[in-house]
Amino acid sequence: MDYQKILEDIYQEILPYAKEGKQADYIPALAKVDPDQFGMCLETVEGEVYEYMQAETRFSIQSITKVFALAMCLSIKGESLWKRVGKEPSGTAFNSLVQLEIEKGLPRNPFINAGAIVLADILLTELDDPEEEFLTFVRALCGNETVDYNMEVAVSERETGYLNAAIANLLKYHGAIENDIERVLMFYFKMCSVEMNCRELAKAFLAFTNYSPFEYAGYKLSRSRIKRLNAVMQTCGFYDEAGEFSYLVGLPGKSGVGGGIIAVCPLRYSVAVWSPRLNSKGNSVMGMKALELLTTYTEESIF
Ligand code: GLU
Repeated sequence: MDYQKILEDIYQEILPYAKEGKQADYIPALAKVDPDQFGMCLETVEGEVYEYMQAETRFSIQSITKVFALAMCLSIKGESLWKRVGKEPSGTAFNSLVQLEIEKGLPRNPFINAGAIVLADILLTELDDPEEEFLTFVRALCGNETVDYNMEVAVSERETGYLNAAIANLLKYHGAIENDIERVLMFYFKMCSVEMNCRELAKAFLAFTNYSPFEYAGYKLSRSRIKRLNAVMQTCGFYDEAGEFSYLVGLPGKSGVGGGIIAVCPLRYSVAVWSPRLNSKGNSVMGMKALELLTTYTEESIF
Protein backbone atom coordinates (compact mmCIF):
# COMPACT_ATOMS: atom_id res chain seq x y z
CA MET A 1 0.00 0.00 0.00
CA ASP A 2 1.50 3.35 -1.04
CA TYR A 3 0.35 5.31 2.00
CA GLN A 4 2.55 8.29 1.14
CA LYS A 5 0.85 8.83 -2.21
CA ILE A 6 -2.54 8.30 -0.61
CA LEU A 7 -1.85 11.07 1.96
CA GLU A 8 -0.74 13.44 -0.81
CA ASP A 9 -3.80 12.66 -2.96
CA ILE A 10 -6.11 13.11 0.02
CA TYR A 11 -4.72 16.58 0.70
CA GLN A 12 -5.34 17.70 -2.89
CA GLU A 13 -8.86 16.39 -2.72
CA ILE A 14 -9.80 18.12 0.53
CA LEU A 15 -8.32 21.51 -0.41
CA PRO A 16 -11.75 22.87 -1.44
CA TYR A 17 -12.75 22.59 2.25
CA ALA A 18 -9.73 24.52 3.49
CA LYS A 19 -11.72 27.61 4.53
CA GLU A 20 -14.74 25.81 5.96
CA GLY A 21 -15.39 26.11 9.71
CA LYS A 22 -13.42 28.06 12.30
CA GLN A 23 -11.04 27.30 15.13
CA ALA A 24 -12.30 26.90 18.72
CA ASP A 25 -12.58 30.46 19.96
CA TYR A 26 -14.36 29.78 23.26
CA ILE A 27 -10.88 29.18 24.68
CA PRO A 28 -9.10 32.53 24.15
CA ALA A 29 -5.63 30.98 23.83
CA LEU A 30 -6.86 28.69 21.03
CA ALA A 31 -8.53 31.55 19.16
CA LYS A 32 -5.00 32.84 18.41
CA VAL A 33 -3.98 29.68 16.49
CA ASP A 34 -3.51 30.13 12.71
CA PRO A 35 -6.54 28.22 11.36
CA ASP A 36 -4.98 27.50 7.97
CA GLN A 37 -2.76 24.61 8.97
CA PHE A 38 -2.90 20.93 8.14
CA GLY A 39 -0.83 17.93 9.12
CA MET A 40 -1.24 14.19 8.86
CA CYS A 41 0.79 11.18 9.96
CA LEU A 42 0.14 7.47 9.63
CA GLU A 43 2.26 4.86 11.41
CA THR A 44 1.86 1.16 10.70
CA VAL A 45 2.19 -1.54 13.35
CA GLU A 46 5.44 -2.48 11.58
CA GLY A 47 6.73 1.00 12.48
CA GLU A 48 6.68 2.57 9.00
CA VAL A 49 5.90 6.27 9.25
CA TYR A 50 4.23 8.36 6.54
CA GLU A 51 3.67 12.05 7.07
CA TYR A 52 2.45 15.01 5.09
CA MET A 53 2.48 18.80 5.54
CA GLN A 54 2.70 20.03 9.16
CA ALA A 55 2.85 16.61 10.77
CA GLU A 56 5.54 17.83 13.17
CA THR A 57 3.86 21.03 14.35
CA ARG A 58 2.52 20.65 17.87
CA PHE A 59 -1.03 21.66 18.75
CA SER A 60 -3.37 21.48 21.72
CA ILE A 61 -4.63 17.90 21.86
CA GLN A 62 -7.65 18.89 24.00
CA SER A 63 -10.14 16.02 24.25
CA ILE A 64 -7.78 13.47 22.70
CA THR A 65 -6.18 13.56 26.14
CA LYS A 66 -9.27 11.80 27.52
CA VAL A 67 -8.14 8.54 25.91
CA PHE A 68 -4.87 8.67 27.85
CA ALA A 69 -6.75 9.44 31.07
CA LEU A 70 -9.13 6.55 30.40
CA ALA A 71 -6.25 4.15 29.77
CA MET A 72 -4.68 5.12 33.11
CA CYS A 73 -7.98 4.85 35.00
CA LEU A 74 -8.76 1.45 33.43
CA SER A 75 -5.31 0.25 34.39
CA ILE A 76 -5.77 1.42 38.00
CA LYS A 77 -9.44 0.63 38.64
CA GLY A 78 -10.26 -2.15 36.16
CA GLU A 79 -13.94 -2.84 35.58
CA SER A 80 -14.92 -1.04 38.79
CA LEU A 81 -14.25 2.21 36.88
CA TRP A 82 -17.66 1.81 35.23
CA LYS A 83 -19.39 2.45 38.55
CA ARG A 84 -18.19 6.06 38.31
CA VAL A 85 -18.80 6.69 34.61
CA GLY A 86 -20.97 5.09 31.91
CA LYS A 87 -19.99 3.80 28.48
CA GLU A 88 -22.92 4.69 26.29
CA PRO A 89 -22.83 7.30 23.50
CA SER A 90 -24.23 10.60 24.70
CA GLY A 91 -25.83 11.96 21.55
CA THR A 92 -25.39 15.39 23.11
CA ALA A 93 -22.73 18.09 22.94
CA PHE A 94 -19.42 17.45 24.71
CA ASN A 95 -20.21 20.05 27.37
CA SER A 96 -23.91 19.38 27.88
CA LEU A 97 -25.33 19.91 31.36
CA VAL A 98 -28.83 18.69 30.66
CA GLN A 99 -28.06 14.98 30.42
CA LEU A 100 -25.92 15.11 33.55
CA GLU A 101 -28.75 16.66 35.51
CA ILE A 102 -31.28 14.08 34.35
CA GLU A 103 -28.90 11.21 35.07
CA LYS A 104 -28.09 12.54 38.53
CA GLY A 105 -24.39 13.10 38.14
CA LEU A 106 -23.39 9.81 36.44
CA PRO A 107 -21.65 10.94 33.22
CA ARG A 108 -22.80 9.02 30.13
CA ASN A 109 -19.24 8.17 29.06
CA PRO A 110 -15.59 9.11 29.79
CA PHE A 111 -15.21 11.23 26.63
CA ILE A 112 -17.79 13.90 27.33
CA ASN A 113 -16.44 16.62 29.59
CA ALA A 114 -18.37 15.42 32.66
CA GLY A 115 -16.89 11.93 32.26
CA ALA A 116 -13.36 13.22 31.83
CA ILE A 117 -13.74 15.46 34.87
CA VAL A 118 -14.58 12.30 36.85
CA LEU A 119 -11.45 10.63 35.39
CA ALA A 120 -9.41 13.62 36.58
CA ASP A 121 -10.92 13.19 40.05
CA ILE A 122 -10.04 9.48 40.11
CA LEU A 123 -6.42 10.18 39.13
CA LEU A 124 -6.19 12.86 41.82
CA THR A 125 -7.40 10.39 44.44
CA GLU A 126 -5.24 7.48 43.28
CA LEU A 127 -1.91 9.14 42.47
CA ASP A 128 0.64 11.01 44.58
CA ASP A 129 1.65 13.36 41.79
CA PRO A 130 -1.05 13.08 39.09
CA GLU A 131 0.31 15.92 36.91
CA GLU A 132 3.74 14.32 36.72
CA GLU A 133 2.45 10.75 36.32
CA PHE A 134 0.07 11.72 33.54
CA LEU A 135 2.90 13.35 31.58
CA THR A 136 5.20 10.40 32.23
CA PHE A 137 2.59 8.03 30.79
CA VAL A 138 1.97 10.14 27.65
CA ARG A 139 5.71 10.65 27.12
CA ALA A 140 6.31 6.91 27.39
CA LEU A 141 3.57 6.17 24.85
CA CYS A 142 4.93 8.58 22.24
CA GLY A 143 8.59 8.15 23.12
CA ASN A 144 9.21 11.86 23.51
CA GLU A 145 10.30 13.41 26.79
CA THR A 146 9.57 16.99 25.68
CA VAL A 147 5.78 16.60 25.46
CA ASP A 148 4.32 18.98 28.03
CA TYR A 149 1.35 20.98 29.30
CA ASN A 150 0.77 24.45 27.87
CA MET A 151 -0.05 26.49 30.95
CA GLU A 152 -1.19 29.50 28.93
CA VAL A 153 -3.92 27.37 27.35
CA ALA A 154 -4.85 25.70 30.66
CA VAL A 155 -5.12 29.02 32.52
CA SER A 156 -6.97 30.65 29.65
CA GLU A 157 -9.49 27.81 29.68
CA ARG A 158 -9.90 28.01 33.45
CA GLU A 159 -10.56 31.75 33.27
CA THR A 160 -13.43 31.27 30.82
CA GLY A 161 -14.48 27.70 31.68
CA TYR A 162 -17.84 28.58 33.21
CA LEU A 163 -19.65 25.62 31.68
CA ASN A 164 -17.03 23.10 32.79
CA ALA A 165 -17.12 24.68 36.26
CA ALA A 166 -20.91 24.22 36.27
CA ILE A 167 -20.44 20.56 35.28
CA ALA A 168 -17.91 20.05 38.09
CA ASN A 169 -20.27 21.68 40.59
CA LEU A 170 -23.18 19.49 39.49
CA LEU A 171 -20.96 16.41 39.81
CA LYS A 172 -19.88 17.48 43.29
CA TYR A 173 -23.49 18.11 44.30
CA HIS A 174 -24.30 14.51 43.35
CA GLY A 175 -21.28 13.18 45.22
CA ALA A 176 -19.62 12.09 41.96
CA ILE A 177 -16.27 13.77 42.61
CA GLU A 178 -14.22 13.38 45.75
CA ASN A 179 -11.62 16.13 45.50
CA ASP A 180 -11.81 19.89 45.70
CA ILE A 181 -13.62 21.26 42.62
CA GLU A 182 -10.94 23.80 41.78
CA ARG A 183 -8.19 21.17 41.98
CA VAL A 184 -10.15 18.77 39.73
CA LEU A 185 -10.92 21.44 37.14
CA MET A 186 -7.34 22.66 36.92
CA PHE A 187 -6.01 19.12 36.47
CA TYR A 188 -8.65 18.49 33.77
CA PHE A 189 -7.68 21.69 31.93
CA LYS A 190 -4.00 20.83 32.21
CA MET A 191 -4.56 17.40 30.67
CA CYS A 192 -6.47 19.07 27.80
CA SER A 193 -3.65 21.58 27.28
CA VAL A 194 -1.00 18.96 26.43
CA GLU A 195 0.63 19.72 23.10
CA MET A 196 1.66 17.02 20.64
CA ASN A 197 2.07 16.77 16.90
CA CYS A 198 0.54 14.25 14.48
CA ARG A 199 3.66 12.14 14.46
CA GLU A 200 3.73 11.88 18.26
CA LEU A 201 0.00 11.12 18.44
CA ALA A 202 0.21 8.41 15.79
CA LYS A 203 3.09 6.84 17.69
CA ALA A 204 1.28 7.06 21.04
CA PHE A 205 -1.83 5.39 19.66
CA LEU A 206 0.07 2.45 18.20
CA ALA A 207 -0.22 1.01 21.71
CA PHE A 208 -3.98 0.83 21.19
CA THR A 209 -3.63 -0.47 17.63
CA ASN A 210 -1.65 -3.66 17.81
CA TYR A 211 -3.82 -5.27 20.47
CA SER A 212 -0.99 -6.83 22.44
CA PRO A 213 -0.94 -6.32 26.20
CA PHE A 214 1.09 -3.25 27.10
CA GLU A 215 2.86 -1.65 30.00
CA TYR A 216 3.96 1.99 29.82
CA ALA A 217 5.31 3.85 32.84
CA GLY A 218 3.87 1.12 35.07
CA TYR A 219 0.36 1.26 33.57
CA LYS A 220 -0.78 -2.05 32.11
CA LEU A 221 -3.60 -2.83 29.72
CA SER A 222 -4.53 -6.35 28.69
CA ARG A 223 -5.56 -7.21 25.15
CA SER A 224 -9.16 -7.35 26.31
CA ARG A 225 -8.97 -3.87 27.89
CA ILE A 226 -7.46 -2.43 24.70
CA LYS A 227 -10.38 -3.92 22.78
CA ARG A 228 -12.81 -2.26 25.20
CA LEU A 229 -11.03 1.09 25.05
CA ASN A 230 -11.36 0.97 21.26
CA ALA A 231 -15.05 0.15 21.62
CA VAL A 232 -15.57 3.31 23.68
CA MET A 233 -13.66 5.36 21.08
CA GLN A 234 -15.84 3.88 18.35
CA THR A 235 -19.13 4.67 20.08
CA CYS A 236 -18.29 7.84 22.01
CA GLY A 237 -15.20 9.44 20.43
CA PHE A 238 -16.93 12.19 18.47
CA TYR A 239 -19.64 13.50 20.79
CA ASP A 240 -22.90 13.83 18.92
CA GLU A 241 -21.12 13.06 15.65
CA ALA A 242 -19.93 9.58 16.70
CA GLY A 243 -22.47 7.92 14.40
CA GLU A 244 -21.41 10.12 11.47
CA PHE A 245 -17.72 9.36 12.01
CA SER A 246 -18.46 5.62 12.26
CA TYR A 247 -20.51 5.81 9.09
CA LEU A 248 -18.06 7.86 7.04
CA VAL A 249 -14.72 6.59 8.37
CA GLY A 250 -15.36 3.28 10.10
CA LEU A 251 -12.53 3.44 12.63
CA PRO A 252 -12.36 3.95 16.40
CA GLY A 253 -11.03 7.42 17.11
CA LYS A 254 -11.11 10.58 19.17
CA SER A 255 -11.26 14.24 18.27
CA GLY A 256 -10.33 17.40 20.14
CA VAL A 257 -11.32 21.04 19.74
CA GLY A 258 -7.69 21.88 18.95
CA GLY A 259 -8.52 20.38 15.52
CA GLY A 260 -6.77 17.06 16.02
CA ILE A 261 -8.28 13.65 15.31
CA ILE A 262 -6.67 10.32 16.04
CA ALA A 263 -7.99 7.06 14.59
CA VAL A 264 -6.91 3.46 14.94
CA CYS A 265 -7.13 0.69 12.32
CA PRO A 266 -6.73 -2.39 14.54
CA LEU A 267 -3.65 -4.45 13.73
CA ARG A 268 -2.81 -2.14 10.76
CA TYR A 269 -2.04 1.50 11.62
CA SER A 270 -2.79 4.53 13.73
CA VAL A 271 -3.35 7.85 12.00
CA ALA A 272 -3.41 11.41 13.29
CA VAL A 273 -4.67 14.41 11.38
CA TRP A 274 -4.83 18.04 12.41
CA SER A 275 -6.48 21.13 11.03
CA PRO A 276 -7.88 23.77 13.39
CA ARG A 277 -11.07 24.73 11.56
CA LEU A 278 -13.98 22.90 13.22
CA ASN A 279 -17.51 22.07 12.15
CA SER A 280 -20.53 22.91 14.30
CA LYS A 281 -20.05 19.73 16.37
CA GLY A 282 -16.47 20.63 17.30
CA ASN A 283 -14.70 18.22 14.92
CA SER A 284 -12.04 19.24 12.38
CA VAL A 285 -13.58 19.76 8.95
CA MET A 286 -10.51 18.76 6.94
CA GLY A 287 -9.64 16.05 9.45
CA MET A 288 -12.99 14.30 9.05
CA LYS A 289 -12.75 14.52 5.24
CA ALA A 290 -9.17 13.26 5.21
CA LEU A 291 -10.00 10.17 7.27
CA GLU A 292 -13.10 9.43 5.23
CA LEU A 293 -10.94 9.40 2.10
CA LEU A 294 -8.20 7.38 3.80
CA THR A 295 -10.47 4.43 4.54
CA THR A 296 -12.10 4.77 1.13
CA TYR A 297 -8.77 4.63 -0.74
CA THR A 298 -7.10 2.01 1.44
CA GLU A 299 -10.29 -0.05 1.88
CA GLU A 300 -9.05 -0.58 5.44
CA SER A 301 -11.60 -0.01 8.18
CA ILE A 302 -13.19 -2.18 10.84
CA PHE A 303 -16.28 -2.80 8.71
N1 GLU B 1 -10.89 21.46 27.05
C1 GLU B 1 -12.05 21.36 26.19
C2 GLU B 1 -13.28 21.63 27.01
O1 GLU B 1 -13.35 21.17 28.11
C3 GLU B 1 -12.09 20.01 25.57
C4 GLU B 1 -13.20 19.86 24.59
C5 GLU B 1 -12.83 19.07 23.35
O2 GLU B 1 -11.69 19.01 22.92
O3 GLU B 1 -13.74 18.52 22.77
O4 GLU B 1 -14.18 22.31 26.61
